[in-house]
Amino acid sequence: MEGQDCIFCKIAAGDIPSKTIYEDEDFRVILDINPAEKGHALIIPKKHYADIFELPEDIAASAMVLAKKLATHISGVLGCDGFNIIQNNGEVAGQTVFHFHIHLLPRHKGDSNQDTMCWNHVELSPEELEGICQSLRLQG
Ligand code: AMP
Ligand code: ZN
Repeated sequence: MEGQDCIFCKIAAGDIPSKTIYEDEDFRVILDINPAEKGHALIIPKKHYADIFELPEDIAASAMVLAKKLATHISGVLGCDGFNIIQNNGEVAGQTVFHFHIHLLPRHKGDSNQDTMCWNHVELSPEELEGICQSLRLQG
């Protein structure tokens, strides 16, 4: 799913019109077509990477710097009370467009997503917690 088959490749290249709020050599930032809140935006790399696992480290780094810059900008303009930065990988995790993107979601007290931005919890015994900690430990 790349180039002609990928909607975000076409949007990033400017072949499909979008509500662009920022653009540089590596990224286009657009307003989401189906926003969860006013100002909901997407950071889209211009090159095609399906997900975070395909993303080169330099693009991953500059994407997060850009997320900070845009979150600060949008918060200032919209007078936000908070801000979600969300990034889904894989269908099971809620990804529907398989071209890496970061959601920028402005939040306000009493907005329409008060009850949706949460997740369920699983019960883990202390042994299970220790086991998962051991198996996930990575040398820094
Ligand atoms: P995700 O579920 O994380 O893959 O997010 C995909 C997002 O892309 C959704 O929030 C969609 O509303 C948004 N989206 C899909 N097509 C377009 C489009 N043509 N222009 C802007 N946003 C889009
Ligand atoms: Zn693409």
